[in-house]
Amino acid sequence: MSEEIRDKILRLALQNALDHGKTQDKIVLGKILGTEPSLRTQVKEIMPTIIEIVNSVNQMSQDQVKRQIQDKFPDLLVEKPKKQEEREGLPPLEGAEQGKVVTRFPPEPNGYPHIGHAKAAIIDEEYAKMYGGKLILRFDDTNPEAERLEYYAAIKVGLDWLEVKYDRTKNTSDDIELLYKKCQEMLDGNFAYVCTCKQETISANRREMKPCKCSMGEMNQNMERWDKMFSKFKQGEAIVRFRGNMSSENTVMRDPVMFRIIETKHPLLGDKYRVWPSYDFAVAIEDSIDGVTHAFRTKEYELRNELYYTILDLLKMRKPKVMEFSRLGFEGMPVSKRILRPLIEEGKVTGYDDPRLPTLEALKRRGIRQDAIRKFVLSLGFTKADTLAPFETLESFNRKAVDPESIRLHMVKNPVPITVRDLPSSIITMPNHPTKDMGKRTVELDGSFYLELEDIEKLKPGDAIRFMGLGNVKITSQSPAEGQYIGDDLGTDIPKVHWVSHKDAQKIKILIPSQL
Ligand SMILES: [Zn+2]
Repeated sequence: MSEEIRDKILRLALQNALDHGKTQDKIVLGKILGTEPSLRTQVKEIMPTIIEIVNSVNQMSQDQVKRQIQDKFPDLLVEKPKKQEEREGLPPLEGAEQGKVVTRFPPEPNGYPHIGHAKAAIIDEEYAKMYGGKLILRFDDTNPEAERLEYYAAIKVGLDWLEVKYDRTKNTSDDIELLYKKCQEMLDGNFAYVCTCKQETISANRREMKPCKCSMGEMNQNMERWDKMFSKFKQGEAIVRFRGNMSSENTVMRDPVMFRIIETKHPLLGDKYRVWPSYDFAVAIEDSIDGVTHAFRTKEYELRNELYYTILDLLKMRKPKVMEFSRLGFEGMPVSKRILRPLIEEGKVTGYDDPRLPTLEALKRRGIRQDAIRKFVLSLGFTKADTLAPFETLESFNRKAVDPESIRLHMVKNPVPITVRDLPSSIITMPNHPTKDMGKRTVELDGSFYLELEDIEKLKPGDAIRFMGLGNVKITSQSPAEGQYIGDDLGTDIPKVHWVSHKDAQKIKILIPSQL
């Protein structure tokens, strides 16, 4: 037996005794084999040492245990940082400094919040909390065609329900003048140009990796055209394009749109503005000026990172760190607005809270709790692998959340009446929860009950069943169903059934969502 192994055994025994008062040889053996798999073939050899050490440790007082630990293994007494079980799935953030992390949740107010939003918002918030930082809620509202006032509100309601707390709210549209200024800088630096080509030409050029004539125009042509975007040009007649590289392997870099004209009224600003930045331009500038240190977005944006960083480099602006995680959806439940919106607008579902949808309103209506969503999201972690989670996984987190707090009632589906003779009393009390003290309820009995069709079908005269919480019943007739109370013996083989007393039966309707 090497000194090193002896030491390890002593360390484990002391630690165990410190945590639990006493220690046991089996526990110490388990732990040592867990940390030193090579010892698995030498159990016989090490067991006597373990027994000896465990015995000596068990003779120490708690103070002596502590002193020994202080002498030999002081590291065990170092207060471990509180384990953040809920954040297990989130790895440390690269370059994160305590107290200085700023994250943002930047939804576009163009639809009702769904499970994908929940994932992003929860990760943004958890990271801000993990580093004692801040979370900004920023409505990325620069496409008036898709955005509506009701969605700003719906997103806030969703975040409140999720208990996601943010430190600051703002709208990208608040900064529209500043975004114009940044565009001007891009044009001044010749990092952008105004293109008046038709959409088909632009698309064809992108495919064929060809620049258009506008990109070769003089600088003052760009200035003139930029001015005209605010007056003369109509929607679709001119766009500002970033001067990227038309032959880049990354298609995003083939002179993407920075600004375009949208005539639709903006939900907050009305028709005050008609030139609107693209997502790519706005998000880079906003993240930078908002002080965001870590910007998370879903994986499908990964190719846009090059553009994001290049814009900030050219404008000599501070660069946040962009990181991607996978998009979250459920099997058979569309999250994409392209699919969701027509479903709602064409009346194929009853509304945005139709329980077949993955919107937060629908999940709430289904009885899913916010704490279950949070645990579920964190259990998936910060991965780039696509997550199409089975809905059952969320449901199992939900059960765990709901179970200890919910009273239990009996329910029978497809009820069939049964009469039972010889009941010992006309009233019983039943606990509301099998293990927690959640009070009792009284149930009145008059011999008429309901059982589930499925349970009744399996029975024939002579069979015994146990009415849960009441007692055993012998079946005397199957149709009409009749039985006789035969006592309260807890036999092992008697099938247990839920029952409802006719006297206090309540009719309920259950919605069971199927897949769309
Ligand atoms: Zn052009």
